[in-house]
Amino acid sequence: MSEPYFWWTEDQREIAKKVEKFVEENFTAAEEYYWKKEFPWDLVKKVAKEGYFGVGIPKEYGGMELGATGSCIVAEQLGRLYSVGHVFVVSMLAGLEQILRYATDEQKEKWLPQLAKGEELGAVCITEPFAGSDAANVMTTAEKDGDEWIINGKKRYITGAGVSDRYFIYAKTSDDPSDTKQYSHLTSFLVEKGTPGFSLERINPLIGFENVPNGYLSFEDVRIPDENRIGPVGKGWNVMMAGLNFERLIAGAVFVGTLKDIIRLLFHYTRRRVQFRRQTNRLQGNQEKIAEIISRYRMGRIFSYYCAKELDDGKEPMINAAIAKMEVSEWVREAGEKAIQVMGGDGLTKFYYAERLMREGKIGEIVAGTTEIQKLIIYRFASMLPDYNASVRMRWNEEVNAPVVSKVDSQFKDLELTDENLLKVIAHDYKVNPGLYMTLDDARDDIGGSRSKTKRVIESLEEQGLVVTHRDRGGNIELVKATYKGLQKAFPKEYYEWYPDWYADTDKF
Ligand SMILES: Cc1cc2nc3c(=O)[nH]c(=O)nc-3n(C[C@H](O)[C@H](O)[C@H](O)COP(=O)(O)OP(=O)(O)OC[C@H]3O[C@@H](n4cnc5c(N)ncnc54)[C@H](O)[C@@H]3O)c2cc1C
Repeated sequence: MSEPYFWWTEDQREIAKKVEKFVEENFTAAEEYYWKKEFPWDLVKKVAKEGYFGVGIPKEYGGMELGATGSCIVAEQLGRLYSVGHVFVVSMLAGLEQILRYATDEQKEKWLPQLAKGEELGAVCITEPFAGSDAANVMTTAEKDGDEWIINGKKRYITGAGVSDRYFIYAKTSDDPSDTKQYSHLTSFLVEKGTPGFSLERINPLIGFENVPNGYLSFEDVRIPDENRIGPVGKGWNVMMAGLNFERLIAGAVFVGTLKDIIRLLFHYTRRRVQFRRQTNRLQGNQEKIAEIISRYRMGRIFSYYCAKELDDGKEPMINAAIAKMEVSEWVREAGEKAIQVMGGDGLTKFYYAERLMREGKIGEIVAGTTEIQKLIIYRFASMLPDYNASVRMRWNEEVNAPVVSKVDSQFKDLELTDENLLKVIAHDYKVNPGLYMTLDDARDDIGGSRSKTKRVIESLEEQGLVVTHRDRGGNIELVKATYKGLQKAFPKEYYEWYPDWYADTDKF
């Protein structure tokens, strides 16, 4: 039984037990479907009957109301049933958060009970032939015609294409460049299978997702009623963003359970394989690889559930959801590679699911935003955190004769703000950080005085060739550094010298 975390509610613990038991009972059937390359309709129907599709849906709409944590619990387990897990995930992602946050009451009453029942699967349709990571660049259009919208375009790489009934799409509703600039050119809609002009164009043969349909969709003058529009016109980007943290979290969580299956397989296998008269689980190299997989499984699992708790507490964990998705998928691919190595040639055969894990992990690194895109998000949002931007200014510490991170005021503080004194501040910074520029604010803090006057003095020093500046696109000074001429003028050359104690005086010149 997978470990429940101490913050889980009784209901979440209960569902965890129930869904794990369900998965154990249906594991062999899922493997049979995998081998037959058949979509597991009857397993999906069983999942629907258990009510798992409604795990995150409020009770008033027929769901279990177990939040992101409940959704993670179910995804973690159903992911072990391979295609069942993937269609479960996209079906939830195809509208749950978006409808909860943006739909009208009537729309919620219409769609949420359907989602909860899981009798009809859903697909989420962002990607197009010419819009992948650049998701705002979709070319599919929606034009208003009376009470209807006419959709034209294509979508691709859509998981659940064909088998789904409900397609949550994003289409362009404005060509105005200022709308595009403000991300208000998109609108989201639900398109149902069977609508005239809406068809399946292609099913992709992929390196994994063996019996998970993934394909291209075509929209030719597809007419849908305005009541299928989710959220205001022009707010499609906001609707898409509203579900993204949940999407990233679940996209990682669906792989977490497979990590435990691979650990089980490796313990089982290496106890039964003998080389050099020893079971291969006795070999230190194999133990290390299994230990690495175990640590990744445990870290990925707890981090995913921590992130789910943040979502359930009403936070928007942009950074953590991106980390969860990125790390788990990378670790799954790595675990697959390690498992193959531990098993040798057997690991390369398709009879054991080590090689499958490696392929699926690779897919995980691309879907729901590639690893590179997650890194962009992590960097961008983390770079705005005040906690990460606390100053680490260094001062020259005479006692240890070295630059040390320090909170003390600069030795130049309260000198008059003149060309000569500011040049000293900037030249002194060369002694402390020879390769770095100072920010305008660093320079101003060190001497005191107004920002505008500091700027004027820097401009004057620049005209004299004593400092160089780095400016933003608007021409404003961002950074400043002394030129070699400025260094010479500010202090004698001995000021900048520094040698370690062991360095012989005879070797100095
Ligand atoms: C199996 C599978 C299932 C999928 N399911 C769905 C689905 O259900 N619904 C859906 O809408 N989409 C789905 N997708 C699409 C998926 O979200 C996209 O494939 C993904 O977002 C990347 O887009 P792309 O493939 O066009 O690659 P591109 O965007 O062309 O990227 C190519 C490479 O360039 C890198 N790159 C791109 N832009 C940047 C940047 N700014 N900085 C740094 N690197 C960058 C990428 O990281 C990548 O390595 C699925 C894809 C697959 C393979």
